[in-house]
Amino acid sequence: MTQMPYNRLGRCGLQVSALSFGSWVTFGEQMDVGLAKDCLEIARAGGVNFFDNAEVYAGGASEQIMGRAIAELGWERHSYVVSTKLFWGIHGDVPNMSNTLNRKYLLQGIDRSLERFGLDFVDLLYCHRPDPNTPIEETVWAMSDIVSSGKALYWGTSEWSADEIRAAWEIAERHHLHKPVVEQPQYNLFETRKVEQEYARLYEDIGLGLTTWSPLASGLLSGKYIDGVPDGSRASLPGYEWLRELLTDESQNQKVRELMVIADRLEVSVAQLTIAWCAKNPNVSTVILGASSAAQVEENLGALVALERLSDDVVSEMNAIAKRR
Ligand code: NDP
Repeated sequence: MTQMPYNRLGRCGLQVSALSFGSWVTFGEQMDVGLAKDCLEIARAGGVNFFDNAEVYAGGASEQIMGRAIAELGWERHSYVVSTKLFWGIHGDVPNMSNTLNRKYLLQGIDRSLERFGLDFVDLLYCHRPDPNTPIEETVWAMSDIVSSGKALYWGTSEWSADEIRAAWEIAERHHLHKPVVEQPQYNLFETRKVEQEYARLYEDIGLGLTTWSPLASGLLSGKYIDGVPDGSRASLPGYEWLRELLTDESQNQKVRELMVIADRLEVSVAQLTIAWCAKNPNVSTVILGASSAAQVEENLGALVALERLSDDVVSEMNAIAKRR
């Protein structure tokens, strides 16, 4: 088996596996504790040390399932990195408890997340989206205080603009607070703007690390939608109708067919090829995999083989296909 590489999270000292494993849509909606344990074990056996979660996933059930699965597996706390994210809240449209990054919500939110996980701390805590209604300074102080309290070891952002990330970093610098060290953006062959353009200066300037999401564009890049929507797939799930148009788009699926030809040539699957493409970007600290079955976790970890076979020429060939109008 190909060895899992470990990368530092940007400029900070934390090491994360080049491929990690997340729980959006799956834990609590498609997976119970038993299946979650199977998937977590396979990921860990393949060298994965980082597991991504969020308060809002399955209304809190995803954190509960991950926490219980890890406890039942008996993993020692030093051997894995776990994250959660706060912003939307899970109590409905309640003032101070939804769509906010105010101090009250963040300080209460982290406590509830830790209770659900059954943990004393998370390694990474993210602001899941920017909040235009709370001063960034208030959020930075609150996140820094959470890190000082030991309830999170590092903090970062998800889907913030480059300007917002830089503003947060500068506030922290000015007041000698804990700085944001990581951003979690979407990144895949069909979605490159933030990682490749908007954040370009931040990697050097502030040492930003990236944990990237949806490497398969919710499954589109696995080739599973080239002939329609398979039963049980994400596009078929109630509540995910909004994804169906994107996943069944004929011109995008035509590009996937062309990527499949390249994958065949490299003797890997198109999912492995397109995940490897994400991992090849040196600014990406870790690619967060999603999977609804143990077989998918196994297959996707095989992206490490694809990574070894992925030359710069093949990357250019893939980019040309993806960027074609
Ligand atoms: P992907 O784009 O890789 O999609 C994963 C889904 O694609 C699986 O659940 C499965 O869905 C399908 N799939 C995966 N592998 C295969 C395969 N080999 N063959 C066929 N189908 C496959 O990643 P996600 O969108 O799940 O994102 C990964 C993680 O990123 C999340 O779990 C979460 O931790 C994080 N994330 C963060 C966000 C943020 O705002 N910060 C937003 C979204 C995700 P199915 O079988 O059901 O079709």
